Amino acid sequence: MVTKKLYETDGMLRDFTAQVLSCQLIGKDSPCGAEYAIILDQTAFFPEGGGQTADTGNLGNAVVLDVQIQDGELLHYTDVPLPVGETVVGVLNWEQRLRKMQNHTGEHLISGIVHSQFGYDNVGFHLGSDEVTVDFNGILTDAELAFVEYIANRVVAMNVAVTVSYPTAEEACALDYRSKLDNIDDLRIVTIADWDCCACCAPHVNTTGQIGCIKILDSENWKSGVRVHMLCGLDALDDYTKRIENTARISNMLSAKQLETASAVERLLKNMQSEREQQAKLRQALLDCKIAQLQPTEGNLLLFEDLLDADTLRKLVNAGVAISGGVCAAFLGNDTDGYRYIIGSNTIALRSASKEYNSALNGRGGGSDQMIQGTMHATRAEIEAYFSKQ
Ligand SMILES: [Zn+2]
Repeated sequence: MVTKKLYETDGMLRDFTAQVLSCQLIGKDSPCGAEYAIILDQTAFFPEGGGQTADTGNLGNAVVLDVQIQDGELLHYTDVPLPVGETVVGVLNWEQRLRKMQNHTGEHLISGIVHSQFGYDNVGFHLGSDEVTVDFNGILTDAELAFVEYIANRVVAMNVAVTVSYPTAEEACALDYRSKLDNIDDLRIVTIADWDCCACCAPHVNTTGQIGCIKILDSENWKSGVRVHMLCGLDALDDYTKRIENTARISNMLSAKQLETASAVERLLKNMQSEREQQAKLRQALLDCKIAQLQPTEGNLLLFEDLLDADTLRKLVNAGVAISGGVCAAFLGNDTDGYRYIIGSNTIALRSASKEYNSALNGRGGGSDQMIQGTMHATRAEIEAYFSKQ
């Protein structure tokens, strides 16, 4: 059964009528969740191929979940069956299809300009639900990509025709075109005026104006070339909207104009750095003060702190260990949330002692014989009572 591919001659066709040639029960195991595979006499549904995902939509009262070509047959995967011989109306999910065509045609234009200006080939194309990537087999700098993007958008503004042709094998031999296909028997050539000529099976918009804005978002080194991230048309508009929303939030938080947020962040980072340096000096001064106040003891030295960070607390414990006969135990926290502890000793083997401490005071943690650390969920009174008996 040969299905006439309406999408090959008219990419802008949103709905069509067709006759159901066959309807096969396939079970519930298909990845898209479909239960039936339907073959039509003609269709506007594009099957997955050439880096572009399949169209979705409706066929009569059936939902088209996926479209694939298998063993030469164009199969519409649906949720419910349709009677063989019946005439049905097919309606594409047009918003989805239009966005894919905008991105796909934009990719042709970008690839054509890269090819003519720099001689590199498109060696990989991915058109996902929220990302479009194109891989080129040569390095392009940011400035070169900006140049390509500008030229592409000028071609959009000129609104030139995107046409389809089917050259014979002889004509194909004389034709200079970019190709993603090896088979030239059923060659389908998509031409964007003087800007690109490429073999492709997918539907495209009719003129470059229908692509809308073409925006290169990012690029990265990819094998021996670059991977370019881009968006076109309505997807580019959505992306722009998200970026504006994000920038507006940053702008409000920094009380800076939207295009001055980067300089505002630079100033903020500089301020944070000097705050950090100031904090380090204050911590050191506080530590020196705390160490000066430590009272030597034959027994355990307990310290409850709330202002120190873990690193400074460790330094305080080290100083306390030198003047205590038992352990120097420092606690950071409160009775409600529990305490973080650091315990040091020159006289008690802490690795084995830690098990007793943790068991008695609902704690977790461990370390070396000289120093242990962890957390305890006990009150200050319980901790003081426990260590006063040791
Ligand atoms: Zn194409």
